[in-house]
Amino acid sequence: MRHISSKLIHGTTGKEDQQHRSLKTPIYQTASYDFESAEDAEKAFRGESDAYIYSRIGNPTVTELEKRLALFSNADNALCVSSGMAAVSNVFLTLCSSGDNIITSPYLFGNTWSFFAKTLKEFNVEVRFVNLENPEEIEGNIDRNTRAIFMEVLTNPQLIVYDFKAISDIASKKNIPLIADNSVLTPYIFESKNLGIDIEIFSNTKFVSGGATSIGGTILCYPSDKWASVPKLAEQYEKFGQEAFYKRMHKEIYRNTGACLSPNSAFLQLLGLETITLRIDRICENALRTAEFLSKSEKVQHVDYPALKGAKYHDLTQKFLKGKSGCLINVELDGKENCFRFMNNLKMIKRGTNFCDNKSMIIHPASTIFWDTPAIEKALMKINDNMLRLSVGLEDVNDIIDDIQQALGTL
Ligand SMILES: *Cc1c(COP(=O)(O)O)cnc(C)c1O
Repeated sequence: MRHISSKLIHGTTGKEDQQHRSLKTPIYQTASYDFESAEDAEKAFRGESDAYIYSRIGNPTVTELEKRLALFSNADNALCVSSGMAAVSNVFLTLCSSGDNIITSPYLFGNTWSFFAKTLKEFNVEVRFVNLENPEEIEGNIDRNTRAIFMEVLTNPQLIVYDFKAISDIASKKNIPLIADNSVLTPYIFESKNLGIDIEIFSNTKFVSGGATSIGGTILCYPSDKWASVPKLAEQYEKFGQEAFYKRMHKEIYRNTGACLSPNSAFLQLLGLETITLRIDRICENALRTAEFLSKSEKVQHVDYPALKGAKYHDLTQKFLKGKSGCLINVELDGKENCFRFMNNLKMIKRGTNFCDNKSMIIHPASTIFWDTPAIEKALMKINDNMLRLSVGLEDVNDIIDDIQQALGTL
C-alpha cells in the first residue's frame, strides 16, 4: 500500500484528466452541463446516472477534491463545502430538530460557538457546554433527545487534547453520534476512523488550502449505525443504512443551503493536498523547536505547546496525535503591554489572525478575537491579557527564532 503522501499526489485513478492527459485537474468553470438527450436529463435528475446537472449540486473539480479527501481520511463519503463554518452548519442542520440537544465544550472556534449559542438556540436546539475532560459530566448530560457529542481535536487557543478514547467509549455506549472538528491537525495527524468518530469536519482554509489561498470546508462521513436512533434520519436509515446521514445531507441540506465550493477554490485545495504532509511535518518540527526556545527564555512566563516535553497534554499528544501538535503555541509574557511591545517589534513574523499558514503570525486573542467577550466568559475560556497565540510557519526555523529573540530583547 502506498504512503498517504503518494496517494494525495496521485489520487484514486492516477489520472486527473482523461481527455487531454493534463497532469493537473482542470477547473470546470461552469454552472451547468449539456445532456446528450432528454432521456439522459431525466435519468440524471432521478439520480439514476452520475451525470453532472448544475454546479451547486456537483462539479467535476470539486468531486476530484472530495475523492482525494476521502483517500486522506479513509472516510466512506466526503462532501466539500464553501467554508469550515458551512461544514459545521450543514452537519447540525442535518442532525437536529427543535427540542433536540447536543453536548460540547465551551472551548470552540468563535463562529462555531456563536452558531451553537445563538443560531441553533433560536431554533430550539439546546447546546450543553460541559467539561469534555470529565466523562461523568458528559454522561450525566446525555438524555433521549441528545443528537451529538461535538469536540474540536485541538482546542484553540486553549490547546487542550482530550482523552478521545474515553469520549468515544461514552458515545458508543450511549449510541450518540460523535463529531470531531479536525481543522487544526487534519487526518494526517488525528485519525478519526480509528477512534470511532462518526462525522469529521474541517476547514480547508487551514492546512488543505496550501498556505491560506482560499476558503473551504469538508465533511467526512464514516460508516455508522447510530443514524437508526436519530429521528430525522430514520427513513434514510431504512433505505441507505450506514450512509443515512450523508444521503440526507447531500441530497437536501447541502443543496438547500447552497454552500457549494467553487471549482477555483477546489483546484487550489487539490494543489494544497499534494504538499500537505510535507508542510505539516515541517511546521510541526519548526513549532517544536520554537516552543523549546521559548520555554528557556526568562522573559517568557509560560509556554504551552502540547508536543513539548513536560507539557500538560504531552502524554495524550503521544497517544492520540503521533506526538505532533501542529502550528499553534501559546506564549505568556508579563502583562498586556509587554505582549503588545513584543508583537510590534517582530520583523518577519506577521501580526494576523489565521493559522496553518506558510507565514508565521501572531495575535493577542484577548484584545482581538475575544475583544467583546464578557470578562466572566473570557475567564471561563482561559483567555487572559498576558497571552499571545503564535502560529508557526514554514520559514527556516532559525529565522523564526532569531526574530522572536530580538523582539524579546526589547522587553
Ligand atoms: C477556521 C476554523 C473553522 C472555520 O473555518 P472557515 O473556513 O473559516 O469557515 C472552524 N473550526 C475550526 C477549529 C477552525 O480553526
